[in-house]
Amino acid sequence: MSKRPSILELVGVTKQFGGLTAVDHVDLKVREGEFFTIVGPSGSGKTTLLRMLAGMETPSSGDILLRDKLVNELPANRRPTCMVFQSLALFPHKSVGENIEFPLKMRGVARDRRRARALELLRLLRLPEGYYGRNVTQCSGGERQRVALARAFAYDPEILFFDEPLSAIDYKLRKTLEKELKDIHKESGKTFMYITHSLEEAMVMSDRIGVMRSGKLVQVGTPEEIYLHPRDRFVSEFMGEVN
Ligand code: ADP
Repeated sequence: MSKRPSILELVGVTKQFGGLTAVDHVDLKVREGEFFTIVGPSGSGKTTLLRMLAGMETPSSGDILLRDKLVNELPANRRPTCMVFQSLALFPHKSVGENIEFPLKMRGVARDRRRARALELLRLLRLPEGYYGRNVTQCSGGERQRVALARAFAYDPEILFFDEPLSAIDYKLRKTLEKELKDIHKESGKTFMYITHSLEEAMVMSDRIGVMRSGKLVQVGTPEEIYLHPRDRFVSEFMGEVN
């Protein structure tokens, strides 16, 4: 993993809202195929950072490079990224298949190929083929999460951004989905960039973790490095919540 080239590079990325510095000079390289999680308490700047990476917000200063191209200079429909939100934004009156195929339909992919890809994605997301024709209102919360993820994969992005997708789900199901997401990541070969306020969640899934505090990225490392060698008291106290 460490020899892989970086797909995303942040140089001095800063975001100010009036007098408030939400993200403060963040430098980071995310490697291709990595599961990278930004973790930090509420208000530490995670969402703002992720929104900038996805091109939804412009940095006040600093650069975000996606394969050596400035993210904000790429037209929205040419960015090889996709955001998976906590609020799933599925089409409620359409079938699972139609939801998953939506990005393909927009690109003019023929019906047969759309269906084949949707069935492939159902398999990847561990949903039975029979769900293809089912209305999304007949799916449970966890199943809808998987449908939303299958649709994100249908865009065939190089990077998937996750904005706390599991935070509204009950503990037991969350534990199952965390493990599945880790496996799906491995199987898909995509780069995952995930934010959460739960260090426990980050520890389970990630190749590397970046800890944020007051807009600053205070430590970056593997779960093991952060667990064994927290850089300062803030990180060790944050770690304490996991034990
Ligand atoms: P987190 O995702 O870690 O909870 P956020 O990125 O949402 O943190 O917020 C970081 C800081 O920036 C907070 O103090 C928040 O109130 C502020 N903030 C976020 N978005 C805006 C905005 N659009 N306008 C003004 N302040 C904002």
